[in-house]
Amino acid sequence: MTYAITQTCCNDATCVAVCPVNCIHPTPDEPDFGRTDMLYVDPAACIDCGACADACPVDAILPADALAAAGQEGYAEINAAFYEGRAPRPAAEGGPVLHSWGAPSFARTLPADFAPIRVAVVGTGPAGMYAAEDLLLHTGAEVTLIDRLPVAGGLVRYGVAPDHPATRRIGDTFARFHTHPRVRMYLGVDVGTDITASELAAHHDAVVYAVGAAGDRRLGVPGEELPGCVPAAGLVAWYNAHPEVAPDMVDLSGTERVVVVGTGNVALDAARVLVADPDALASTDIADHALSALRNSAVREVVLLARRGPEDLACTAPELLALGRLPGVRLVVDDHDPRAWAAIEAAAPGDKAALLRTAERERVDWPGTPRPGSGGTGERRIVFRFHSSPEEILPGAVRVTGAAGPVGMAAGLVLRAVGYRGLPVAGLPFDEATGTVPHRGGRIEKTPGGYVVGWIKRGPSGGIGANRACAAETVSTLLADAVGGALPSPSGSARAFGRLVRRRVGQVVDARGLAAIERAERARGEASGRPRVKLGTVPELVAAARSRRPRAR
Ligand code: NAP
Repeated sequence: MTYAITQTCCNDATCVAVCPVNCIHPTPDEPDFGRTDMLYVDPAACIDCGACADACPVDAILPADALAAAGQEGYAEINAAFYEGRAPRPAAEGGPVLHSWGAPSFARTLPADFAPIRVAVVGTGPAGMYAAEDLLLHTGAEVTLIDRLPVAGGLVRYGVAPDHPATRRIGDTFARFHTHPRVRMYLGVDVGTDITASELAAHHDAVVYAVGAAGDRRLGVPGEELPGCVPAAGLVAWYNAHPEVAPDMVDLSGTERVVVVGTGNVALDAARVLVADPDALASTDIADHALSALRNSAVREVVLLARRGPEDLACTAPELLALGRLPGVRLVVDDHDPRAWAAIEAAAPGDKAALLRTAERERVDWPGTPRPGSGGTGERRIVFRFHSSPEEILPGAVRVTGAAGPVGMAAGLVLRAVGYRGLPVAGLPFDEATGTVPHRGGRIEKTPGGYVVGWIKRGPSGGIGANRACAAETVSTLLADAVGGALPSPSGSARAFGRLVRRRVGQVVDARGLAAIERAERARGEASGRPRVKLGTVPELVAAARSRRPRAR
């Protein structure tokens, strides 16, 4: 019996470093690392020690005989299939096998006589926290963690779907560093508004921007501005209780169909949550307003519009596999264009498109409202429509292209899931074409002491774990600059920075405040058997942060 990696693999390769027999691949030093949807255990080499499962930050690794009980059947074969036809990997001699992150340009610890540097990290999502972790574990650097919102987590808190609690658990790994003795935390501080980039730079040896991609890409079709057309990222923020999204942002009570443009993982997350059984979501940390809207939802059908064919699906295979296994939900491929089903049939067993062979093939008659499913009232379905794009958004409908000409679909909600887009940070250079900050190895162009990591560095692609290698590169560049004397000296102290921030922002949340928010949300959740019930507004978060733990008698 061996172990297998499953759906929630975060790709950050924590498991690789602890495997004593080098049986998990691709490793960070192999060329296909970062190009596969997930990592895979080689069943022929696994010695069943379970070290990988203990180390996995998202509980994605299970013994093969526990897969079925966890609803992850098929993953033993998926792991094994990765090794079919490949040359056997070299067996490890002794153990554990320690992997390096490529060839760093200099040893990743500062010289013993080097004065500790002070680094600000702007953004407390995965990219910022992997950078902070690297600095704290491998150097004596002091780290100032800053976030625009009065709570930490970024996309771990506001981007991961509530029915993926294992993925959310990576936040526990990052939270260990919130209270690190060399960390100062300022939450609720907007760099660019409350303090300027140059003020931040003046108080630190280096600043790492991990601000993500807070904007969204547009479709460029008429009607996109109508109230019924919203970014899928907005829906994600809505069901995750983001304080800047109104609880009534979407109304699901008046529409039977939602059209989602795009087939990336964000599109799949949105589709899955919209057709999910609300009772199954009731035990998650989904926003209360979203749970109640889903309970009153009239939505029975979600259409995923793909401008290309099944061979070019943007989602990852594990997420597509999971979509086909949703209880009470039929997965359908609209047969309007014969190229789609032909591609599905022609797909090799390891191709994503092959997973759609279990879907129903149907020539859908679009005009009007969704047809009741064969299972009777209440049945829901997700329909892939390939080789089709929106032409125009209309009130309550969308006109889309098709092999036999355009068709109109009644849809009260159209979601643009066509990707995020980085936004400029005042005081930093910005490339409008890519929505990123121009850099070399993470060093921001023409900005001594300024660095980027994550989506604002490399564009909005890659899941949580992809940020680990990205952060390793940026931190290596930063440390090389530190040793090479290329960092400007700060003129202000850490205390002076604290005073500056408190003068500008009345209600800064620190690590103690964050812990108080955590306790308050968990306490709210306990009453209803949920992991937490999130506080959904800035005033509520700030008030919880200011409530102090009752003194022990
Ligand atoms: P994405 O993966 O880049 O997918 C964007 C989708 O939009 C693609 O299907 C793309 O089609 C389509 N598209 C782009 N422009 C279009 C246009 N003008 N008209 C029609 N379709 C258009 O973006 P995402 O879904 O926002 O995900 C961002 C990243 O976050 C991804 O790396 C994703 O894996 C990650 N993520 C992961 C998870 C998870 O692991 N569960 C969850 C959420 C997000 P083309 O391929 O034809 O361009």
